[in-house]
Amino acid sequence: MPYKQRTQCRHPGCPVLIPVGSKYCDKHKQLHPDRPSAVKRGYTSRWQRISRQYLRQHPLCVRCGRPAQVVDHIVPHRGREQLFWDESNWQALCKACHDRKTGEEDSRPTYEY
Ligand SMILES: [Zn+2]
Ligand SMILES: [Zn+2]
Repeated sequence: MPYKQRTQCRHPGCPVLIPVGSKYCDKHKQLHPDRPSAVKRGYTSRWQRISRQYLRQHPLCVRCGRPAQVVDHIVPHRGREQLFWDESNWQALCKACHDRKTGEEDSRPTYEY
């Protein structure tokens, strides 16, 4: 018989146990409507595998030359799969450079405003 693992509801202070893979108990689910998560936007296990491979081939940050830690999308994909998986749109960045770039992107006005 498979043993069903349970995890605790992520709502602060809630002791209710729920199936692994869920985030909240039934009561708190309504308080936390599903937003498109990173996983839903395409950061799946497939991406983790492929980006790790990419970093093996591109081990250095293209901006500062330190060891790269993340594969960055040169043009922000904003959920567009075609851009997301386009290897010519990737670059290897270290954490510091990636954070800086993300900050630049976030401060730029976008269509969302
Ligand atoms: Zn709960
Ligand atoms: Zn760097």
